Amino acid sequence: MNTAIQPRIQLLDPSLANRIAAGEVVERPAAVVKELLENALDADARNIRIDLEEGGIRLIRVRDDGCGILPDDLALALRRHATSKLTSFDDLIAVRTLGFRGEALPSIASVSRLRLTSRTREADAGWRVETDGSESIAAPGPAAHPQGTTVEVRELFFNTPARRKFLRTAKTEFRHAEETVRRIALGHPDVAISLSHHDRAVLNLQGDASEAGTMARIAEICGPAFMEESLPIVSDATSLRVWGRMGLPTFSRAQADLQYFFVNGRVVRDKLITHAVRQAYQDVLYHGRHPAYVLFLEMSPDGVDVNVHPTKHEVRFRESRLIHDFLFRALHRAIADVHPGVMLDKTPGQWTMDGRRSLPLSGRHGGGSGRSGASGGEKDPLPTSAETGFEAFRVSEVQSDYDASAPAHGARGQDHRVLLSRQTPGSPPGMVADTTDSPHRDQIGGVWADAPPLGHAIMCLHGIYILAQNDRGLVIVDIHAAHERIVYERLKRGAAEQGIRSQPLLLPVNLNVSRIEADLVEERADEFMALGIEVRRTGPDAISVRQIPIMLRDTDAASLVRDVISDFTVTGMSSRVAEKRDQLLATMACHGALRGKKSLIAVEMNALLRDIESTERAGQCNHGRPTWIQLDMDELDRLFLRGR
Ligand code: ADP
Ligand code: MG
Repeated sequence: MNTAIQPRIQLLDPSLANRIAAGEVVERPAAVVKELLENALDADARNIRIDLEEGGIRLIRVRDDGCGILPDDLALALRRHATSKLTSFDDLIAVRTLGFRGEALPSIASVSRLRLTSRTREADAGWRVETDGSESIAAPGPAAHPQGTTVEVRELFFNTPARRKFLRTAKTEFRHAEETVRRIALGHPDVAISLSHHDRAVLNLQGDASEAGTMARIAEICGPAFMEESLPIVSDATSLRVWGRMGLPTFSRAQADLQYFFVNGRVVRDKLITHAVRQAYQDVLYHGRHPAYVLFLEMSPDGVDVNVHPTKHEVRFRESRLIHDFLFRALHRAIADVHPGVMLDKTPGQWTMDGRRSLPLSGRHGGGSGRSGASGGEKDPLPTSAETGFEAFRVSEVQSDYDASAPAHGARGQDHRVLLSRQTPGSPPGMVADTTDSPHRDQIGGVWADAPPLGHAIMCLHGIYILAQNDRGLVIVDIHAAHERIVYERLKRGAAEQGIRSQPLLLPVNLNVSRIEADLVEERADEFMALGIEVRRTGPDAISVRQIPIMLRDTDAASLVRDVISDFTVTGMSSRVAEKRDQLLATMACHGALRGKKSLIAVEMNALLRDIESTERAGQCNHGRPTWIQLDMDELDRLFLRGR
């Protein structure tokens, strides 16, 4: 023990305690905007207006027309752990509001000059309280205000210069705040939200709870390109539903900046979810690229714990493995099922708001066709999802929904291609079957009345491309890329059918790991075995690898096992062996695929076209490049300025 004075324990001054709490919740103007916006949404506001000055550093004002706060409660709203949203522990188990900790307003009030004005529905006048960073709050006084609440936050961090120094330029802070508003707005299409900076309108979003409104909101936040290059998805399980739009693999991005995930309307960034989505896109994405998506997970609130982190961005699922598998399977299936057959009925034009019509002409490559394009506007007879109302692609697990409600395949007036495109994997996709009612068929004179989706080969261009004619126009296929995908999928299927066979290592590989990791290995020995890995605990913090999958015999057993352990730790499961195996198969496929400048004869070309049609994920090669593109007659006409 040294000779310094013995430290004593004392209670923190409440205003200091608030500022420390503020450190967790409020690190920049965007965080204030998030909390105020969420409060307005919790108050059931229909219209929310956000005004910022100097990126929010000088002023953040959020005005709503929600339920308001009673005059007697105004001062209380600024006190720590005062909330109207929870009363018991049971409430905490199934929180439905965005806030519940009662920390945001006091935290913000402790680092700014805050003014809270509110009027409830019954009241005939508004009331206001003001604070200037200190604990003392003067009694509320009357103030003119319509029904709802306005929170004004001025001079953020004026009394905490250390924190203020960490702020960036007003422009940067504004960008963060705007992104926050966009993110939250995406999850609440029913609420009108506007944002302005120095009185300049930046966002002006109409509130509309209908499916059209939701599509409009997604379009406004994510942009038209995303709408064109994404497909709607809906998938249900007993108590889970995921819906939204998934960017096509070819619409991947250099940054993970177009990824929006909501759990029961709450913006969430979660490792488990990111992992499931990444895995679903795995092997159709270029290495280092990020998928784009807007996905909404709906589940019972008591299945998810939102009380994990002060900003509530992280959540904990009670049945994490189930959620992971559900998401992975739904999304993976959706990506796998992007077949050429689905795109042929695309009516040129808009991704209209009703989400049922088709996509525009651009983005017309192998992956560039949306499921939404598969249905034909008003005449679409298929059932729509009752809850979202979207005429969206549904994964095979819910195939029975269609079987029950859609007329038998081939019935009159039915759009075959829609049905065909929804076939379960393994059955041939929509190829030759559709010969009726195509508006294009008559135009072209019925010559290709039996044309399969990718049509018939006309010629092989320089041994690199196949040119084919289908009823829409010209199809161009990259021979190597397409063949590579086909070989790869075949190899994978073979591997899956045979299961993972493993073989003993000549010499066991001994590894030192942490005690926790050794525990994990011991507890999950069976699961390792299911992956073809035999690994035993040999000491408190030592393990020994005895056996690994035959296919991976040339990989480093130690790093494989370490990776699998960390997968188990992070996500509760490991897809490492499958991933490694797939990587290996991909390399083999690339070597096994037809390589440049081999001229193909007609039979070979047509066989390849048919193979593409019946192969999963055939729209992209293993590296995420498109394998084929479609040029429609009217696109060609436009190139030649015909009909102008
Ligand atoms: P929390 O949202 O976790 O309850 P806050 O500190 O954000 O905590 O808000 C405290 C309380 O103030 C809320 O529980 C709510 O009763 C009230 N409140 C805050 N903002 C609003 C608003 N815009 N409209 C109505 N009530 C509000
Ligand atoms: Mg709150």
